[in-house]
Amino acid sequence: MTPRARILAPLALLALSVPSHLAPAAPPAPPTPNAAAPQPAPRPAPAPLGRDEPEAARIRLEIGQALRQMEAAVLAANQEAYLAWVVPAESDPVFRTEQVNWAKDLGRHVPAEFTLEIVDPAAPQVGDAGAPGPAAAAPPDQPVPPPPGTPDDPAVPPPVYTANEARFTLRMTWRMPPAPPRDDPAAEPVPKRERRVSFPVRFVRLPLSGRWYYAGEDWASVTGAAYAPDSGPVVVKYLGDSRDIAERVAETLPRVRRRVDEGFEYRPAITQEVKLYPSMRHLQASIYLSYADPLSGWNEPGEAIKILARENMMAGALEPLLAHEYGHVATFELGEHATKMPWWLVEGVAELAAEAFSPGLADASRAAVESWARRGRLAPWEPMADFYTCPPRYHGHVYRQGHHLLGFVSETFGRTKRNQWLTLMARGGTLDEATAGALGLSWAQLDERWRATLPTAEPPQPEPDPEP
Ligand SMILES: [Zn+2]
Repeated sequence: MTPRARILAPLALLALSVPSHLAPAAPPAPPTPNAAAPQPAPRPAPAPLGRDEPEAARIRLEIGQALRQMEAAVLAANQEAYLAWVVPAESDPVFRTEQVNWAKDLGRHVPAEFTLEIVDPAAPQVGDAGAPGPAAAAPPDQPVPPPPGTPDDPAVPPPVYTANEARFTLRMTWRMPPAPPRDDPAAEPVPKRERRVSFPVRFVRLPLSGRWYYAGEDWASVTGAAYAPDSGPVVVKYLGDSRDIAERVAETLPRVRRRVDEGFEYRPAITQEVKLYPSMRHLQASIYLSYADPLSGWNEPGEAIKILARENMMAGALEPLLAHEYGHVATFELGEHATKMPWWLVEGVAELAAEAFSPGLADASRAAVESWARRGRLAPWEPMADFYTCPPRYHGHVYRQGHHLLGFVSETFGRTKRNQWLTLMARGGTLDEATAGALGLSWAQLDERWRATLPTAEPPQPEPDPEP
């Protein structure tokens, strides 16, 4: 049984564009002049053994060996071997869960190429958008283009190697194997572009085994208060210069939690971690290697709420995004089987949670769904139940149609019965069982009653003559 991931509001959703709210795929990074003939990124040579710091050089070599083992495990799709290099749950349960889910994707998609490198600040740096090889590889008369100016290209700080902790910039480079387009599995496989991201990380040496473990990003953090004595606090982790956004999140999330918990009529006492990613590429890579859809946030049971740190977070985009993602957290808190709930239902609940902070969201969903109904284009529920197999053409329906149905259930049966309905499913009941148990009718009857609230399909109009 594969768990279903919960992606969040795709980007354009925040702008409430309907009906096709799903943002188009992020354009591939612009190729650099020498991108046509990519070369494998060369392994950094071992650092020179400076007389004054033999210990640091030894640690660098040990970590380099760990990186080689992690690469081999990934390329062999050996989840267990990869996870053996990740800090155990006792050290960081949230990061461990994220990495378990990251590794799980190797059971579905194995990269064709994958490298991990310590970025040496002494060497000229390349951009993370796909420029191959170090600057030295370019002909001398061709100026190396500046890095693409993304947050993934900060001035790289020098690594710090101490007896039990190493902090440095890690560059991850990979390429997925050629694959047919998702909406046309019968088509010819299409080559995939190289992807690359760099970020500051920590490795720690744990006393029990005496060896090194990957501890994830080298985050800084701020904390936010619990909104009530029996709700937990908030920890917001960030990189680089995102402290102002982190503080804003720490200040906003307690208010969002209070409102969403009221909707769920339940107050989970959890320390809610939020991770702010400085770039889309970094956020995507933290989910798993094959993940390439645009997104602005993510949550899975036991993981942090992951969001993209953007300047517009300081305006109105933050509350609905946090409410959507915390809506997932609250859903997962209802029961251990919540990950088996239909994807459209989980996204519908999250959109309902975001409604209070997003003027116009309910109207946007209503307009989209009524338009689909008129054109006979509502999506069937079943194909939208599984995140991994849902056809991309229905991704917009997952959010709008799911949201609209959740709104209908809330208005028709009330908040408490809606929550019972969700809880029965989160505790293992099927859609049919939960609908009968909490709402007193079959799922087919509920679907029929919902459809009766929508405009009927109009007969197809003949195509108008094209304008001259
Ligand atoms: Zn979501």
